[in-house]
Amino acid sequence: MASNQSVATMKGIGKQALLTLSEMGIETVEDLILTFPYRHEDFQLKDLADTPHNERVTVEGRVESEPSVLFLGKNKSRTTVRVLVGRHLIKAVFFNQHYVKGKLHIGEMVTLSGKWDRGRQMITVQHHSVGPKSAESDFEPVYSLKGTLRQKTFRKWMRQALDETKNELEDCLPVEMRQRYQLADLGEALESVHFPVDGQALKQARRRFVYEELLIFQLKMQALKKKNREEEPGSRLEYDLERLKGFIAKLPFSLTDAQKRVVNEICKDLLEPYRMNRLLQGDVGSGKTVVAAISLYAAVTAGEQGALMAPTEILAEQHATTLSEWFEPFGVTTALLTGSVKGKKRRLLLEQLEAGNIDLLIGTHALIQPDVKFKSLGLVITDEQHRFGVEQRRVLKDKGYHPDVLFMTATPIPRTLAISAFGEMDVSIIDEMPAGRKEIETYWMKKEMFGKIVGRMEKELASGRQAYVIAPLIEESEKLDYQNAVDLYQQLSVYFQGKFEVGLMHGRLHPDEKEETMRRFAEGELAVLVSTTVVEVGVNVPNASFMLIYDAERFGLSQLHQLRGRVGRGSAQSYCILLADPKTEVGKERMSSMTETNDGFILAEKDLQLRGPGDFFGRKQSGVPEFKMADLIHDYRVLETARADAEKLIASDFFWQSEQTACLRSRIEQSGALSTGRLD
Ligand code: ADP
Ligand code: MG
Repeated sequence: MASNQSVATMKGIGKQALLTLSEMGIETVEDLILTFPYRHEDFQLKDLADTPHNERVTVEGRVESEPSVLFLGKNKSRTTVRVLVGRHLIKAVFFNQHYVKGKLHIGEMVTLSGKWDRGRQMITVQHHSVGPKSAESDFEPVYSLKGTLRQKTFRKWMRQALDETKNELEDCLPVEMRQRYQLADLGEALESVHFPVDGQALKQARRRFVYEELLIFQLKMQALKKKNREEEPGSRLEYDLERLKGFIAKLPFSLTDAQKRVVNEICKDLLEPYRMNRLLQGDVGSGKTVVAAISLYAAVTAGEQGALMAPTEILAEQHATTLSEWFEPFGVTTALLTGSVKGKKRRLLLEQLEAGNIDLLIGTHALIQPDVKFKSLGLVITDEQHRFGVEQRRVLKDKGYHPDVLFMTATPIPRTLAISAFGEMDVSIIDEMPAGRKEIETYWMKKEMFGKIVGRMEKELASGRQAYVIAPLIEESEKLDYQNAVDLYQQLSVYFQGKFEVGLMHGRLHPDEKEETMRRFAEGELAVLVSTTVVEVGVNVPNASFMLIYDAERFGLSQLHQLRGRVGRGSAQSYCILLADPKTEVGKERMSSMTETNDGFILAEKDLQLRGPGDFFGRKQSGVPEFKMADLIHDYRVLETARADAEKLIASDFFWQSEQTACLRSRIEQSGALSTGRLD
């Protein structure tokens, strides 16, 4: 039987079964054997003394009492029998299987599998067989089946299919790679993934499939990257190194080693003839803005224009202020374009941009509207965005621009996910904080402590520092019982009257009002800023050293970390108070995690564990692929290995020419990644 043959040719598969299999995506024998079980029923004998409460267990023992049956009404019954397992005299309970009474006899052996109730020393039996445990495999595969298909039937087909074809299938992994990692060959791995002789065999089989799956995934990514490089025209930005050095020397601080390293990585990309497509990761406060500024300046010295795009107006304005200050002595013209720049002002700005009189345009999404035209756009940087939408990239391309692109994110995407979700990009990481920063001290307190905390905040304000107070809602809501910014603002204004100025910030304010409030806070006129999460990303007021987050259980872990990142930006000791009465375990765990670490990467990994990868970016735009076997959290080491291997392979003639890799090549082609330019 050939593996590409229809399953219809197999014994015992009739019309109805064919339909069900087809629903499961199984047409050929190969499809069938590549349908992996999602778990195995473990029938290995275990010692009850080591079995945790509520865990499934298989034991053998001797029947010690006559089974007693209790009928509980229509077809319902409960049969109980005492069994001696090793030194444990336990109770075995069978539901709705009163017929076992006739099969179990005092003094005879029985094998039982079921859930172990440690407290009551009782097994609720799911499977049993009379006699000692048989010598068959300890692991029985359990598949995810459709319709009325039974595990037993499916297993039989699987057995048949494996016996007839497993040794005929072409193994995509070249011998040399299998040897390098001591991976099982395909036939062996297939056998063990379905019918392992023991736990070790299953583990080995899994290891092979995980590697293969991740390698092919990475090969697709890398092939796509190669294709993009070859086909999308890119420009060499011949920047002026001396001028760049001059700019860096004039900055109010010296760069950290990490900043220097990523600046070098970016500059190297700029000089290359292909389009840069790079992700810059750096925890909140690690100093990404200055890296953006240096990169943009490089583009300007190469005679190109640059653009910096931020997700909110507040952030765009702040960037415009910072950059124009830094660039002022260097004769670089900057301009700000947001949704609230309108009419004549906007028209003028666009004219100047197209004429090339503006070197750097800073703004929100307003930057990529159809009528915004640059003279020569060399570099686009997006701040605080997980993904620069495919759509936005198309817009730029349609305008005839093929700029280098840098994406900056403070959401510390765990490396695992960065590699997988952004695999077609290069990744730079700032893994060091500027010198002199202190850990932000974080406390989790009950909401009833609010009064006390405000007292503590007052002390901080009295020493000349500033504070943020964050609330989940803008105004009182009938539906949600959470604190709101307007109420808090009023309360605190009264409390601090005559002593400290309090400001209010939220998304519904007029843009001018937002700008004015932000300016007053940045300049220290306002001591306290009561705000919703609009200040979550990017906002930089280094003198603020106290943050109070009301109803903190309302926010996700990475959001809390982002919020907290608004303080601790200067050299003063900063504090973050989480006011929260979480009701769920996950909620409590989030609060504790926040108090335990300041490290965004650790928190992100934690978040990933608490939520699962699908939710990390929000399900929709995640772009995180689903795997059959691989698990991005547990298999991240394999993912990194696969990535490195794929990189080497793609760059080698061996990969593109050898017979040995023909199978891998065809897998990449099949996926369509190369023809559509997209990964599915
Ligand atoms: P983020 O990475 O969160 O965007 P920012 O770029 O806003 O961080 O930088 C945070 C603060 O640290 C800013 O006040 C910035 O001026 C300052 N900063 C950045 N780099 C350094 C450095 N190398 N030494 C000292 N301060 C720095
Ligand atoms: Mg920033």
